[in-house]
Amino acid sequence: MSARVLLVGVGGIGHPCALALAAVPDIELVFLDDDRVERSNLHRLVAFDEAHVGAPKAHALAEHIERELHATRPVVIVDRATPDSVRAHVDDADIVVEGSDNFATKFLVADACGLAGKPSVHGAAVGWSGTVLSVVPARSACYRCVFEDLPVGDAVDCATAGVFAPVTAMIGAVMAAHVREMLGPEPARAAKLSHFDATAGMFRHRTMQRRSDCPLCCEARVITAIDASRYSAPLCSH
Ligand SMILES: [Zn+2]
Repeated sequence: MSARVLLVGVGGIGHPCALALAAVPDIELVFLDDDRVERSNLHRLVAFDEAHVGAPKAHALAEHIERELHATRPVVIVDRATPDSVRAHVDDADIVVEGSDNFATKFLVADACGLAGKPSVHGAAVGWSGTVLSVVPARSACYRCVFEDLPVGDAVDCATAGVFAPVTAMIGAVMAAHVREMLGPEPARAAKLSHFDATAGMFRHRTMQRRSDCPLCCEARVITAIDASRYSAPLCSH
């Protein structure tokens, strides 16, 4: 049976990740994204050109994968993860790849994966650096063990700091590698955090420990359902 891999966001990070996973056998890709291609995206969304400007990113990428890479056409859902819809999307998946561009969606998807017991790979990029975190529920630290909660105040985001386009390609590629490891014969038993610094040309990898008071994965957890009030408005969009 093939593994159903849900990509939440196929923009800067999800785009290279999807291209890398398209060639992997026994994977069914599902794209969840409602953004459209903008001219300013073209330098990092390498499968697109001027003709794609204005088209839904998910449709355009699925078409490219089928036509140019001769791979199975991914399933496309032109929508975004919302508190109402996220559980249904996550429940349908075997692995979730979260490459969204805002903190609200990241925590929403992380919580849904934790509650559903689904493995997830989370990627983020801002400025000259990026991170990838892979989570195996009940076996490893979760997203909230590492990042705790949405930032308050003046958090650095990609809208103000920008992002060096090659960083998104590196992070997307590493996310695809984490997915392949999860699907392999010996998936990691611990949460792995990879951090890439483009100015140093360096990756650092750390194994993350569970927090005994984590609101999502500890025994006395306080997050037991998706509550829309926990997720504030998106902080950035690219
Ligand atoms: Zn946790």
